[in-house]
Amino acid sequence: MDDISCKLLVIGAGPGGYTCAIRAGQLGIDTIIVEAEKPGGTCLNVGCIPSKALIHAADEYETVVQAAAGWNLLGISASKPALDFARTIAWKDGIVARLNGGVTGLLKKARVRLVGGRAQFRDGKTIAVETRAGSQVIHAEAVVIATGSEAIALSSLPFKGHVISSTEALALTSVPRKLVVVGGGYIGLELGTAFAKMGAAVSVVEAEARLLPHYDAELSEPVTRRLAELGVTILTGAKAKGLASDGTSLMVETADAQSATLAADSILVTVGRKPATSGFGLELLDLDMNGRSIAIDDRCRTSMHGVYAIGDVTGEPMLAHRAMAQGEMVAEIVAGQKRAWDKVCISAICFTDPEIVTAGLSPEEARKKGFAIKTDTFPFRANGRALALGREDGFVRVVARTDNHALLGIQAVGAGIAELSAAFSLAIEMGARLEDIAATIHAHPTQSEGFHEAALKVLGHAIHI
Ligand code: FAD
Ligand code: NAD
Repeated sequence: MDDISCKLLVIGAGPGGYTCAIRAGQLGIDTIIVEAEKPGGTCLNVGCIPSKALIHAADEYETVVQAAAGWNLLGISASKPALDFARTIAWKDGIVARLNGGVTGLLKKARVRLVGGRAQFRDGKTIAVETRAGSQVIHAEAVVIATGSEAIALSSLPFKGHVISSTEALALTSVPRKLVVVGGGYIGLELGTAFAKMGAAVSVVEAEARLLPHYDAELSEPVTRRLAELGVTILTGAKAKGLASDGTSLMVETADAQSATLAADSILVTVGRKPATSGFGLELLDLDMNGRSIAIDDRCRTSMHGVYAIGDVTGEPMLAHRAMAQGEMVAEIVAGQKRAWDKVCISAICFTDPEIVTAGLSPEEARKKGFAIKTDTFPFRANGRALALGREDGFVRVVARTDNHALLGIQAVGAGIAELSAAFSLAIEMGARLEDIAATIHAHPTQSEGFHEAALKVLGHAIHI
C-alpha cells in the first residue's frame, strides 16, 4: 500500500482520541485516527457505558426483588421476579453497538479518516498499521498518543479462566453464584454492587483499611453500609494470596494475619489500571515518563516536539471526561489556538449505591493546601425529594474559603445524584462563593436543594434543618 500522510495523527479512538480527532476535523485539520479495536475505546466498549447499563439493570431488578419480598415501602408488590441475563447483556451490547456507530459517524462527518489496525511507531512522525488490506505507513506533522489504559493483573492471581477483569465481567453469560471481588475501588464496587443486586453472593477483598480509600471516610461510609445491607461480605486490610488447591477458591490473608478461603465461581480482579505504553514501539521515541505514564505539560505536550499524549496514558485521574477535555484542547492547539490546561476541577462520580460525586477539594485536602476553611453538610433526610424517592441516605457537603467564601470543593453521597456533578463543577469553575449558591433559586422538589441548603448551612441560616 502507498504511504499516506496527514497533518494530525491520533493513535487510539477512545474518548480522548475520538474527541481530539472530531474537534481537529471541525477546525479543518487533515486528520487520521488509528484504532486497533472498535471506536469508542475502553469507555464505550468495556467501561463507562456497559457498566452503567448493567448497574441500571441491576437497580431495576432489585426493585422488583424487594417488592416480591414484601420490602417495598411504596406499597408495590410483585411475584416471581426473574432475570433473563442473556437479554440484559444483549440490551447492553445493543447500546454499545449504537454508540460505536455514532462515533464512527461523527468521525466521518468531521472528515476524519479512520484506519483500523494496531499502530506501531517507526519514529516520532511515522507509524505503520497492520490493516486488513495490508501494512499502511502513515506520516504526520503532529501525533497524539491516546492509547488509554489496561487492567493491572496480580502476579499471584493472573487473569485466566474464572479469574477475570472488568472486560470479562461485563460479558459474562450468567450471574455467578459466588463472586469474589479483589479491590474495593471504583470498578470493584460498581460491578460488585450490580452483581449482588442481580443475585450473586459477593465478597470484596480490599487491601486498605476501608473500602474506596481514594475517598474520605465520610463519603465512603454510606456505600459500605449499603453493601452490608445487600449482604456483601467485606474483608478490609486483606490480601489476596492466590488460588487455593481446589483451583477455584481464593486464599486470603485477613487483617489479623489469619488465612481464609473464599469459594468463588468468578474472581474479579480490580486493583487499578495502568497506562497502555507497551507493544507499539513507544520506546523508540524515548519520551520522558512520569512513573508508568507519559509525562506531559499543561498543553499535553510530551518531551518530543510535535508529539502529544492525552487521556489514561498520561495517568490519573483516569476519567473519560478528562480525556475528552484534553483531546479537545490539543486539537485547538494543533490548529494554532492559544490553549493551556486551566481547569479548576475535574468532577468524579462513583456509580455505587448510593452514588458519590466529588468536585474540587475535600476538607482535608483544602486544609493540607493551607486554606482556612468553612465546611458543613446537609443531609438528604431533610430533603423532600429524597424522601419522596424513598432514599434519604447521604448528604451534600460544601467546602469554602473562610476569608472570601469562594467554593473550594463540593461533595455528595446519595441515590441517583450523579447529575448534580454538573452544578458542582460549574460552581467551582465559575468561582462561585457561598453567597452565589445561596442567592440562586434551586427548583423544588429536587435533590439539588441539598446543595443550596448546604451553602446556607455554612452561612449559618439553613432553612430546612
Ligand atoms: P481508552 O478509552 O482506553 O481508549 C484507548 C484506545 O486506544 C482503545 O480503543 C485501544 O484499542 C486503542 N489503542 C491502544 N493502543 C493502540 C495502538 N497501538 N494502535 C491503535 N489503537 C490503539 N470513566 C469515567 O469517567 N466514568 C465512568 O463511569 C467510568 N467507568 C469505567 C468503568 C470501567 C469498567 C472501566 C474499565 C473504566 C471506566 N472509566 C470511567 C474510565 C474510562 O473508561 C477511561 O478513563 C477512558 O476510557 C479513557 O479514555 P482514553 O481515550 O484515554 O483511552
Ligand atoms: P481503583 O484505584 O479505583 O481501586 C483499586 C482498589 O484496589 C483500591 O481500593 C486499592 O486499595 C485496592 N487494591 C490494590 N491492590 C490490591 C490487592 N493486591 N489486594 C486487594 N486490594 C487491592 O481502581 P479500579 O477500580 O481498578 O479502577 C481503575 C480506574 O478506572 C479508576 O482509578 C478510575 O480512574 C477509572 N474508573 C472510573 C469510574 C468512574 O468514574 N465511575 C468507574 C470505573 C473505573
